[in-house]
Amino acid sequence: MSNHDSRTVVISGAGLVGCIAAIGFANKGWNVKIYEARPDPRSPTQIQKLSRRSINLAISSRALMAIKAIDGDGDLYHRLVTDATIPMKGRMIHGTDGSLDSQIYSSKGECINAIDRQKLNNALIDEAEALPNVSVTFDAKICTVHFDKRVLQYQVNSETVTDKDWDLVLGADGAHSVIRNQLMRVIRMNFAQEYIPHAYLELSIPPGPIDKQTGEATFLLDAHHLHIWPRHSFMLIALPNQDRSFTCTLFAPFEKFDELANSKERFLDMFRAEFPDAIKLMGEESAAQDYMTNPKGSLITIKCSPYHYADRAVIVGDAAHSMVPFYGQGMNAGFEDVRVLLSLMDAEGVSSAKSSPSAPLARTLDRYSKERERDLRSIVNLAMGNYVEMRSKVTNPLYKIRKQIDAV
Ligand code: FAD
Repeated sequence: MSNHDSRTVVISGAGLVGCIAAIGFANKGWNVKIYEARPDPRSPTQIQKLSRRSINLAISSRALMAIKAIDGDGDLYHRLVTDATIPMKGRMIHGTDGSLDSQIYSSKGECINAIDRQKLNNALIDEAEALPNVSVTFDAKICTVHFDKRVLQYQVNSETVTDKDWDLVLGADGAHSVIRNQLMRVIRMNFAQEYIPHAYLELSIPPGPIDKQTGEATFLLDAHHLHIWPRHSFMLIALPNQDRSFTCTLFAPFEKFDELANSKERFLDMFRAEFPDAIKLMGEESAAQDYMTNPKGSLITIKCSPYHYADRAVIVGDAAHSMVPFYGQGMNAGFEDVRVLLSLMDAEGVSSAKSSPSAPLARTLDRYSKERERDLRSIVNLAMGNYVEMRSKVTNPLYKIRKQIDAV
């Protein structure tokens, strides 16, 4: 139930970052209205549809810190993370000859963690919706915002609905953000986007046989590594899931996919030659089926700045900085956006009270744009750098020696 004395933030997008932002703002006393263009991902039809694809993610201390900070003294971190993640302590490099090379990330035991994207997103929607001052409307696609007049329009079942009851718009609507486009009309936003030549395709390794002692399925690969099959111009990676399966992603140039020409046989020939150990674990029939049915996604980098307009709007997450996934930091950086934004609001004394002055909020958003830009540009560039590192440099003997020295 919304509080008439509190300010209202409209959040565009109930993705990972939009939900974290909703929880953060609601905990600070704001009324939160989320509009999400897609249907509710928790509905039975959507669960069935989405369960066929489940990109898992690497969640790092960047996001974990943000969850802890946003939730204050709550136990959101434990509910979302403790039982839902699998720590990965290093990379496991798979050679074409079946050789294995474990490259540990840290001598101090620091890890990144595998988590199921859809489960995390659904849990975050549950958490947000459970708060009394949050409402979530699905199938509601925001199409226009007039920031000065405070008029926002969204479409539900091809009908246009107008919302004039808000103070701030937070765009967490992903790489093709409508809020970013609307901002571009009113501010001098610098903007650059670049598609890389690679596409990605999701495949999977099923759980292994049941362990007689524990009565549970086993992992067919070491569960505590991020597995990489680097082949210079393309690569395969695998991250563990809690059901003991692995989600694998093939990153290859679109031209490589064109060469395969939607032919099962060509796909299997390529896998038998390049990833002989992986294809045995996947099972040829199942891998070929995934190849034929799963989409081949494109990968985009987006840089822009500034991220805000006056005291009216700000963009976070992929809407502000899409990056290629090779550094595993897109969502992590998006969660950090929300942590930084909320801490600047505290520093500037922004109140959730409707009667409070607008200047502190305008100052916060301005500081956010100025102080965040350098870090975001850096992480987008680092992600692009890791594009070459993961598929190629990790196989270089000199690189391996340097990493061993770094780890001591
Ligand atoms: P999104 O997840 O894109 O969510 C945006 C939401 O807004 C969607 O639900 C969409 O339906 C909704 N929306 C869009 N337009 C509108 C509108 N007009 N009105 C209302 N709603 C709207 N990141 C990591 O941190 N670690 C990883 O390991 C990792 N691996 C990745 C692997 C792959 C293959 C890819 C492609 C990405 C990976 N990422 C990873 C990046 C990560 O997926 C993104 O950074 C993250 O999803 C961004 O979250 P978001 O909420 O900003 O945007």
